Amino acid sequence: MTAQNTALPNTMQVEDDRTGLSIGTLRRAMADNLFYIQGKYPDIATQNDYYMALAYTVRDRLLQRWLATREAYDGAGVRMVCYLSAEFLLGPHLGNNLVNLNIYQPVEKAITESGLNLDQLIAQEEEPGLGNGGLGRLAACYMESLASLEIPAIGYGIRYEFGIFDQEICDGWQVEITDKWLQYGNPWEILQADSAVEVKFGGYTEFYTTEQGEQRVRWVPNYALKGVPYDTPILGYRVNTANTLRLWKAEASESFNFQRFNQGDYYGAVNAKTTAENLTKVLYPNDEQIQGKELRLQQQYFFVSCSLQDMIRIHLAEGNRLETFHEKFTAQLNDTHPAVGVAELMRLLVDEHAMPWDTAWQVTQKTFAYTNHTLLPEALEKWPIGLFGRLLPRHLEIIYEINQRFLDQVQQQFPDDDGKLAALSLIDESGERYVRMANLASVGSYSINGVAALHSELVKSTVLKDFHQLWPQKITNVTNGVTPRRWLVLSNPQLAELITSKIGNGWVQDLDQLKQLEALVNDSGFCSAWQQVKLANKQRLAQRILDFTGIEVDPTSMFDIQVKRIHEYKRQHLNVLHIITLYNRLKANPTQTMVPRTFVFGGKAAPGYFMAKLMIKLITSVGEVVNHDPDVAGRLKVVFLPDYNVTNSQPVYPAADLSEQISTAGKEASGTGNMKFSMNGALTIGTLDGANVEIRDAVGDENFFLFGLTVEDVMALKDQGYQPKKYYHRHSSLQNIIDQLSSGVFSQGDQNLFRPLVDNLLYQDPYLLLADYQAYVECQDRVSQAYADATHWTRMSILNSARMGKFSSDRSIRDYAKNIWQVKPVPVKLKEYIQANAGLQVNTP
Ligand SMILES: *Cc1c(COP(=O)(O)O)cnc(C)c1O
Repeated sequence: MTAQNTALPNTMQVEDDRTGLSIGTLRRAMADNLFYIQGKYPDIATQNDYYMALAYTVRDRLLQRWLATREAYDGAGVRMVCYLSAEFLLGPHLGNNLVNLNIYQPVEKAITESGLNLDQLIAQEEEPGLGNGGLGRLAACYMESLASLEIPAIGYGIRYEFGIFDQEICDGWQVEITDKWLQYGNPWEILQADSAVEVKFGGYTEFYTTEQGEQRVRWVPNYALKGVPYDTPILGYRVNTANTLRLWKAEASESFNFQRFNQGDYYGAVNAKTTAENLTKVLYPNDEQIQGKELRLQQQYFFVSCSLQDMIRIHLAEGNRLETFHEKFTAQLNDTHPAVGVAELMRLLVDEHAMPWDTAWQVTQKTFAYTNHTLLPEALEKWPIGLFGRLLPRHLEIIYEINQRFLDQVQQQFPDDDGKLAALSLIDESGERYVRMANLASVGSYSINGVAALHSELVKSTVLKDFHQLWPQKITNVTNGVTPRRWLVLSNPQLAELITSKIGNGWVQDLDQLKQLEALVNDSGFCSAWQQVKLANKQRLAQRILDFTGIEVDPTSMFDIQVKRIHEYKRQHLNVLHIITLYNRLKANPTQTMVPRTFVFGGKAAPGYFMAKLMIKLITSVGEVVNHDPDVAGRLKVVFLPDYNVTNSQPVYPAADLSEQISTAGKEASGTGNMKFSMNGALTIGTLDGANVEIRDAVGDENFFLFGLTVEDVMALKDQGYQPKKYYHRHSSLQNIIDQLSSGVFSQGDQNLFRPLVDNLLYQDPYLLLADYQAYVECQDRVSQAYADATHWTRMSILNSARMGKFSSDRSIRDYAKNIWQVKPVPVKLKEYIQANAGLQVNTP
């Protein structure tokens, strides 16, 4: 405080317009921002103008915390987590920041008093869809938990100009629309032009001799780009920590193009800008499936190089030596997408900072830790040597060198075991030669983890089996989690309020406290309040379904929901086989009593994934028939909610009675949607796959609907030669359904439409739908019986929420912090804005 300020009597202290949190100040700040940022009077302002004015009002309050956080970290020698991820599926910021700033209610009041509606303003925000699905969403939950736990962290990624496409449904098919999320500007990001770095590509390498007579390698690139960082503050819940998410945009490097400019090719130099910016133009829309496109490798290398250069700059700016780089930073590789970082850090240390190889390798191996996200062979990244070497010639040399030294060491430990060498090698030499990114990440990291207990065991016994034998301590488990701030407090405010009214609000920061709800399962008042919240959430979703699809659904029917990316391994089509089973039962016996169900689907298919797109058409086609058949009226509805993303998912999880988690055992690494549902009081029907196993352990077998083959069953069945046709012949109801699909019952007589799906099931069925069909249907019958007893169902629903403490991403981050990263919280003190601006000085960037 300046002398003048302290002299003011308390009563006269005026809240600063950019930091104050009272209703009056927030109102004034918003009016101010409407005028000075949007340049509008209220009489011409649109909803979007008011959203922007509010967003900037919130951002001002974030900036105070963000600068205080940076000050607490800068120069204090704190150890930091760098979360390297090609995807961050953040979802809209406004609502979440209001929750975490603890100003949701005052802002709502201020907005309402102004004659506006907060929900409508929040709905204006175009979410940054910078990810495909679970992996990207996990990165977003982890950034939020890191901040909430006050752990120093930076998220590094790519600022895609176009995120995951928007989905429309036309004639029952998916149509992809470009995601123009930046078109009205992004109030949450701050351009940091003076932290731009250069990234090189292509060319060749050569030896040269230094003045000291040392032989060194020089990379002579073909071209270079500039990486420009845009920072988004990520605020923790009711703490002052606002960590940084730093996303890189590609631009033309003027220094590199200077020669051309000098030679008079002004147009060419400017034109290079357009080409350069293509690199971060668009997110590859494939989930769990690689495409092997050169531009994708360019994206990966680009953001990793930018990030490592940034980390080195920070480290040196603090006056440290690069030999201690791994003490300052730990870099988590979110899958193998950033794995080229292992070679890049070696290059930066050895070539650019003249560190001896062995020292550099020690630093590198102690810097990285790798999270494996999948066992699916089609998702394991590998790059053809030719492509890799053309783009990153120096990195290929470095990878060969790492591989040589590594295999020499293996050779000593396992003499003359060529199989072992071939399996561990960073290079796949079985045919066309490839760089194996999982092997590079494994060799270059001090820790490897899977994302659920079952998955981590499978990592040890399958994809990384030989690495596990070599380094038995290196592979561990960190079960995924989701943040309860977004997935309960923000998405399900009524349930959050009910819970808080009973057990206080400590659960938001310590989700294990939900356990206290167990004592209330026999409290009839609480149970009926619980039911009323669920009903209200279902009514809200029913209205959205009507608005989005024109389909009317009954909020008192059971809401049976499967929302996630569309993939054969996730088996949305198994769900459809069950729907048709119920439909056929009703057709055979129209007066039969049945627990009414509303089936809700949502999810995007990769644009090039034909079978997934056909699965969407299957769902909508079955819906078309079922929803219009008077014989089933009032008992069955099938809905496909278009454009599944974070925004649209938030009203879905709280409205579910039943959560469909029915992947083939061993295929879903963890799943996080399963956690969001269960936290919000849905019961799960699921296989023993991914985190389902741990969810069932936590909530109790009696509160979980388990069915289907286990991982061992799946392996045994495949070993003995799986013949799906057998199941077709064994179950007449299954046979009937398959025949209906072939004969055009659900395709207006078209016998070809679903042929590829039917043939796939009958002759290959790689995901064992037919083998699991009967168990699934029987389990669904048990679900219906249970749902008929509303009191008991409610009890199970409460117990699901009450026992989900483990699945908070706070627990996951604590696991990483303690078992892997060795980082500690650094609390941040708020600084008065006035004090922070007491004296002005000029610094060099
Ligand atoms: C949670 C989430 C996912 C992951 O869902 P799974 O059921 O675990 O596959 C995907 N997309 C969005 C938008 C999500 O919020």
